[in-house]
Amino acid sequence: MALTPLNSDVVVIGAGTSGLSAAKSLKDIGYSVIVIEAANHIGGRCVTDNSVFDIPFDIGGSWLHSAVTNPLAEIAVQNNFKLHKKNWSHTWVHSNGANLSSKQTKEYSQYIEDMWQNINKAGKNKKDQSIEKSLPEAKWRDIARNQIAPMMGADPDVCSAHDVFHFTNTEGDWLVENGLGAFIKYLYKDIKVITNCAAKKIDYSSNGVKVETPDGVISATYAVLTVSTGVLSQNKIKFFPKLPPRKKDAINNLPNGLLNKIGFEFNIKWREAHQGQSADYLVGENDFCSIDFGFYDSNIAVGFVAGRFAEQLEMDGPGAATSFCSEALKSIFGNDITKFINKTTETAWKSNINSYGSYSYALPGGFGAREILAETLDDRLFFAGEATMSNSQATVHGAYLSGIEVAAKILAVDNSN
Ligand SMILES: Cc1cc2nc3c(=O)[nH]c(=O)nc-3n(C[C@H](O)[C@H](O)[C@H](O)COP(=O)(O)OP(=O)(O)OC[C@H]3O[C@@H](n4cnc5c(N)ncnc54)[C@H](O)[C@@H]3O)c2cc1C
Repeated sequence: MALTPLNSDVVVIGAGTSGLSAAKSLKDIGYSVIVIEAANHIGGRCVTDNSVFDIPFDIGGSWLHSAVTNPLAEIAVQNNFKLHKKNWSHTWVHSNGANLSSKQTKEYSQYIEDMWQNINKAGKNKKDQSIEKSLPEAKWRDIARNQIAPMMGADPDVCSAHDVFHFTNTEGDWLVENGLGAFIKYLYKDIKVITNCAAKKIDYSSNGVKVETPDGVISATYAVLTVSTGVLSQNKIKFFPKLPPRKKDAINNLPNGLLNKIGFEFNIKWREAHQGQSADYLVGENDFCSIDFGFYDSNIAVGFVAGRFAEQLEMDGPGAATSFCSEALKSIFGNDITKFINKTTETAWKSNINSYGSYSYALPGGFGAREILAETLDDRLFFAGEATMSNSQATVHGAYLSGIEVAAKILAVDNSN
């Protein structure tokens, strides 16, 4: 479908949380805004799938992290979305053929707390080193280090400790009943989005910007680009003039990591695990999954694989990650558990051509790249999205806040002209 000639004050590229948040803030100020989205739906990396299970399944973001200070938690309550506040704790740990005793599991959990404290301490050092270098030497190190990839989307040897230290981590990881993706969709139900419309080229060479799409060109005074660093690093969007080397370096220093989810729906007769309980499973050094049970107090469990191992499973093909998590379930609960599994599903975020991964991490030495990624080019081309945030990166609330911040930046530029 050809677009009729389109003009607006601002064109927002991408209708994930950051793009939708930017569009809403800009409209509230009084700007005319056009939002274009490459996919056939909004939400980006925060989407709820209602088609697989009886219960909504968030294929991307699901927890409101740092919940007590997370602005989205209050907004969810104001909009009558119920929050599930129960914390998850390590209940079962199975490593290379052996189940840890409950005493050992407690020691392991304690090690994980100490490990994050050490990583944060290392983040204060002058030298920006990898997380791997700051793991305390102790009995549980080799299993517990596998906890890092699901948090960071990448293995500890490639993640910057400075980047972790600067994340504002406050109490609480809460779930939104009906799905975080469903909540984001509801929140922005009044924002008009042109879907199936990918930006191919952004011309910011003279006054205003021109965004080329297969359906036509959109002209605007300002553009807000919200695509992931995975998309940016694929060079599928051309820029005129080319992005400056400083911006390209920032993109290279902030790869889009990988977390994949494996959903299990159990027969309600299976009652061995409940909300708040989780199982960790390790084979060899790095083949690891973590499974959280009882999402929304239901019979849904979610397995997580991350980093290089998740990439390998995704390359192995559909079903590989599900098989690995099924082995974990059998090792911990016995072979009969498979009789109680009704349905499964799994994500493949690395192959998703609109994100190429799950969320950004900074390479060791790459601290500072987020601020550079957020810099505006020629007072016309603005950047938003989770990767541009230095204190709330890799999250849905970070994306939300980046949308608000970019709208304020546009207003400031406009006022100074
Ligand atoms: C498996 C997984 C689990 C996660 N878990 C959590 C969690 O529990 N809690 C949490 O806070 N965060 C979590 N996250 C991270 C969180 O989902 C993201 O940080 C956030 O959704 C990113 O929003 P964004 O707007 O920055 O980017 P996106 O959501 O990626 O939005 C960018 C949009 O741009 C579109 N686009 C791409 N290319 C083009 C183009 N050329 N033209 C037009 N549009 C384009 C994309 O389709 C997308 O809709 C998770 C993510 C994943 C994948």
